[in-house]
Amino acid sequence: MFVFTAPSGAGKTTIVRHLLSHFEFLDFSISATTRAKRDHEVNAKDYYFLTPQEFRTKVKNNEFVEWEEVYDDQFYGTLKSEIDRIWAKNKHIVFDIDVRGATNLKGMYGEDCLAVFIKPPSLEILIERLKSRNTESQGSLKKRIARVKREMGYENDFDQILINDLLQVALKEAEFLIEDFLDLKYE
Ligand code: 5GP
Repeated sequence: MFVFTAPSGAGKTTIVRHLLSHFEFLDFSISATTRAKRDHEVNAKDYYFLTPQEFRTKVKNNEFVEWEEVYDDQFYGTLKSEIDRIWAKNKHIVFDIDVRGATNLKGMYGEDCLAVFIKPPSLEILIERLKSRNTESQGSLKKRIARVKREMGYENDFDQILINDLLQVALKEAEFLIEDFLDLKYE
């Protein structure tokens, strides 16, 4: 499995989407979340959008392999059923999750998991990208920037660091990371 994590706005989603369209043998782990759906998002494609009550019930029933309160009152988690769904298709799983969730998955799956930290060229550039994305309210943007500052400190906990400066270069590097990891595993 491949776990991609990054501070919000580092370009993680773009890189993950590219890899999914480039390699047929990859499939995306659709997380569950209680946050509001953005206009362009589709339920059961980008996320399984759940009410807080539905989310809590799944936590109680032990249906998550990992879950986090990523922002105050906004829960995100990986369902065990999602891992089963993708492995049943004989595909490798790609995760797009927060730093703590990524560390947890790496701890659980060890050598079967490549954990990649995507890093923006600088904090200033990251904040600019977040602002220009225009998907967040003022309050939410503030929360995200505070979190970014914390998350930037975790890069050394991962197997690989991928710097997203020039996107085309980062996309190629991401492809190499996938190919290298699979070659090494099946040599
Ligand atoms: P966003 O609201 O921008 O889609 O995601 C916010 C953060 O939650 C991102 O860092 C994203 O990677 C993370 N996230 C998404 N799904 C999961 C999940 O299943 N588990 C955890 N721990 N974090 C997640």
